[in-house]
Amino acid sequence: MQGFGDWLRRLGARISAGLRNFMQGRYGSDKLNTALLVVGLISCFLSMLTGTGIVSFLFTLISYVFMGMVIFRMLSRNTYKRYQENRKYLRFLERLKDKEHRHFDCPRCHQPVRVPRHKGKISITCPKCREKFIRKT
Ligand SMILES: [Zn+2]
Repeated sequence: MQGFGDWLRRLGARISAGLRNFMQGRYGSDKLNTALLVVGLISCFLSMLTGTGIVSFLFTLISYVFMGMVIFRMLSRNTYKRYQENRKYLRFLERLKDKEHRHFDCPRCHQPVRVPRHKGKISITCPKCREKFIRKT
């Protein structure tokens, strides 16, 4: 069976080389894709649990949309845009976890600004453009 093992190994090498070639210049996967995949799989699972009604149909639809996004983002050649989406997602997660601060975007230059919570109405000065704005914390 030496020959078969060799053949299998060569086939594996060819497939992985082909796959590498195919993915060349494409975006691949990131944290956002993993999250989309999880939502897609959960929806798929829920659609199986909910039987045949409209709810099940909706879950199926959601799972297709999310799976579609995962495939689209993986194969996308616009790596810059995909990278930015992932960064936004990571920043969003960070904000969710941060219970001590509130996050605002400067109304003028959109610089993210972080301020402590529960201080009432305060005047915030943007660290980048010095724009002053008032927000409730
Ligand atoms: Zn600013």
